[in-house]
Amino acid sequence: MHRLGLAILCLAVMAAAAPARTAPAIGPWLGAPRGSFDLVRGVGDAIEVSGTVRDPDSASALDVAILVDGERVQRLTTDRPGGFGEPVSFTTTVATDPGLHRVCLRLLGDSFGHRTVDCRDATTAPPRSVDPAVEANATGVLVTPTGVVAPVLGVDGNDYTVLTPCGAEATLSEGTFVERARVVIDAGHGGSESGAVGVGITEKNLNLVVAELVVEKLESLGISAQLTRTWDYRVPIKTRADIAAALAPDIFVSVHHNGGARRASVRPGTEVFYAEGMPESERAARIMYEEMVDALDDYSANWVSTVNEGASLRLREEGDDLYGIHRYSPGIPSIITEFVYLSNPSEAALMRQVELQELEADTIVSALLRWWWTDEDGSSRGRQFVDSSSSGTGGFDGCADPPLVGNSPLARRESTLALQQAELGRQAARALTPALFLATDPAVD
Ligand SMILES: [Zn+2]
Repeated sequence: MHRLGLAILCLAVMAAAAPARTAPAIGPWLGAPRGSFDLVRGVGDAIEVSGTVRDPDSASALDVAILVDGERVQRLTTDRPGGFGEPVSFTTTVATDPGLHRVCLRLLGDSFGHRTVDCRDATTAPPRSVDPAVEANATGVLVTPTGVVAPVLGVDGNDYTVLTPCGAEATLSEGTFVERARVVIDAGHGGSESGAVGVGITEKNLNLVVAELVVEKLESLGISAQLTRTWDYRVPIKTRADIAAALAPDIFVSVHHNGGARRASVRPGTEVFYAEGMPESERAARIMYEEMVDALDDYSANWVSTVNEGASLRLREEGDDLYGIHRYSPGIPSIITEFVYLSNPSEAALMRQVELQELEADTIVSALLRWWWTDEDGSSRGRQFVDSSSSGTGGFDGCADPPLVGNSPLARRESTLALQQAELGRQAARALTPALFLATDPAVD
């Protein structure tokens, strides 16, 4: 297809060039030069930039400028393209102040004038502050050949001894070792634990789609991130926390979508839960809640909520965190996000759209950047409460480990974002009968 496209372009050049010779006043232009970034990524205190530009009217090198926050910080000339309209790529690095920046690509000095053709947000490496005890105990994880994420217990030559999702020990000689991650993203539920069920959408699948998008977006900013599960298998809560502990992240974000509320509300019933006694977890939750509700403000639905909406602290009667994600992650700021209610058909319909899945992931990333780079407190909505209810799921009972090696068809089929989103679409198409689901979001013990 690519070769065919070039052939058509060449014909277009000839067709347009011919009349230009007899009627020069019309001008030879086939169009303005075009360009876009391929990558804008923080690397330490600098920002690495690459892009592709092309000029339909010229086979000359192009002059481009890189702007950071509106200031031109670098000008460069590309290599000569292979011919008229052929793409030519460039790569450079710009030093900048620590923080969030807007990086733009401007094409210089052609007949169309200077034009800014692409802008991206970029961040230098956020300041890292990890509890020394957490750092000291971090051993890294092995991502096995089937994509299963397993905390490393020991290394002997090429052999890794790892903790399986269901809490067994296994020794593997293949896989990808990941030593640290700035962010650990937990896709809630999985396998036999589906989480909340909405019309045409199942929470475990949506959680994974959003979690994968968050990792992709963070990595594209140069911020390392690791999922706790990469496809549809069961992972007890304790194992998820062990994965986070093994990676000593700045923050541990567990992505969920809610079930149960029936009270009509003028605004989304978004809930974000923070960990007891962790001010940075609370601040992250307050910022996350604020960003999520703001993001949903552009959309309408028959919102529902409960009294727990906001950034809240949910305790057991013992006085510690109800959620194992928090309880098993001492020293690591952790939050649990419940963006919308999947049990509400109106909100489930929103989340079946790729646009909303992207929006949620973008919002999580924006909130994390705000958490890193500001000392803002976020929203004050939310409450602290004691709740002894437990779903009885999220534990090790009846847990069956997924295959760790080999080319599991299940792993292959479900490990790509595109296929996940296609699956969500198929589920939506199959859903014919709206139903009420009254269970609250389970499996967060
Ligand atoms: Zn859930």
